Amino acid sequence: MTNFSLERLVPAHIQRFEPYYPSKPDPELMRAYGVEHLHRLNNNENALGPAPGPAAVVAGFPSDLAPVYPNGDCHYLRAALARKFGKHPDQFLVGNGSCEVISSVIKAFCEEGDNIVTADRTFAVYEWVAEFSGYEARLIPLRGYGFDSEAMLAAMDERTKILFVCNPNNPTGTYWDRATMEDFLERVAGRAVVVVDEAYFEYVDRPDFPDGMDLLERHPNVVVFRTFSKMYALAALRVGYLCGSAEVVDMVRRAHIVYSVNALAQAAAAAALEDDAGHIAATRRMVAEARALLEACFDDLGFEYVSGEGNYIMVRTPMPDTLLYRRLMKHGVMVRTMTGFRFPGWIRVSLVQLPAMRAFCEAFRSVFDGK
Ligand SMILES: *Cc1c(COP(=O)(O)O)cnc(C)c1O
Repeated sequence: MTNFSLERLVPAHIQRFEPYYPSKPDPELMRAYGVEHLHRLNNNENALGPAPGPAAVVAGFPSDLAPVYPNGDCHYLRAALARKFGKHPDQFLVGNGSCEVISSVIKAFCEEGDNIVTADRTFAVYEWVAEFSGYEARLIPLRGYGFDSEAMLAAMDERTKILFVCNPNNPTGTYWDRATMEDFLERVAGRAVVVVDEAYFEYVDRPDFPDGMDLLERHPNVVVFRTFSKMYALAALRVGYLCGSAEVVDMVRRAHIVYSVNALAQAAAAAALEDDAGHIAATRRMVAEARALLEACFDDLGFEYVSGEGNYIMVRTPMPDTLLYRRLMKHGVMVRTMTGFRFPGWIRVSLVQLPAMRAFCEAFRSVFDGK
C-alpha cells in the first residue's frame, strides 16, 4: 500500500502547466528524416561560430580544471563586463543562460497573488516561468507585430511586479525606439521592474534604438538582459547576464543559484567581449546578405513575411507550419514552427551563410511548386 498521490503533492499550477519538449538531437532527426546533413535554422544561432579568442579558450580548456569548482559569482567575467560597459561589477549578475536570470528575477520579486506583464507573442520563457511558479502572466496582444506600450500600461495593477519588454522582439524583429521606451518608463514611474531583454542587441544598427545600458542609469527600476548565446555564438556553454542598479542586483542575487555558470563558460564569455568589433561586423554582414536573399525568395512566391532586427525572419505560408517543418526536414533544413509562439501557419528562419540560405530557398520553393 502506498499513499503516494501526485494530485495531493503537486500544486495545481504545476499540474495545469503544459511541458515544453525540446527537439531531438540532430543525429536522431537526421536518421528519422533520412538526411546526411542538417541546416539548423531553428534557434537563431550564429552559424559563423565564436570569434578566434573565445574559440581558443574552448579548445584549450585544461582538464586539470575539471575537478575544480568555478568561481561562484563569475568574478572575472563581471569585471570584464564592468570594464566594457563602464559599470560597477556589482551591477551584473551572470546566469546559466539568460533563461536562468529570467527565473531569478521572477523569484526575487514575485509572491503569491502577483503578476507579470508581457506580450502574447514573444520569447515564451517569461510567461512559462511565471506560470509554473504560480504567478499570473498578463499577455498583451502585439499591435502591428510590436509590443503595445499603451495596453501594457493599462494592464498594470498594484500586484504587477515585472514588465518584460523584448527589444528587439523575438520572433517579429520589431523594437521600441528611444522615444517610445522613454515615454513608457516615465509612465511606469518606478511602480514595477522593467526588464528589457536585449538578447539581440548586438545585431541592431539603428540610430533610434535605445541602449538599455544607458536607460538603467536614469531609471533604477530597469534591468537589462543580454546573452552570449546569440551574437557571441556560445549557446552550448549557457551564459547570459543581467545589468541593473547595484541595489536591484543585490536583491536578485539572493534568489540566484551560485556556481550555476561553469568555468569554461566564464572564461570563453570573458574572451568573447574582447575585440568583438570584427566578429560583430562580420556577423551583421552575413545577416544582411541572408535577409536580402530570403526577402527576395518570399517576394517571389508572394508570401507575407515579417522582417526586422535580429538574425531571423518570419514567413507565413498556406501550409500548416508543422507539416511544412516535416517537408523541409526531408531536405535537411530545420526551421522553427510558430504555432507555439501563437503564430499558426508561420515559420521563423535563422539568417546564416548564403549556401545554407540557398539550400533553404531551394527546399522551400520545391515544397510550394505546383501548389
Ligand atoms: C535566445 C534568447 C534568449 C537567450 O537565452 P539564453 O538562455 O541566454 O540562451 C533570451 N531572450 C530572447 C528573446 C532570446 O531569443
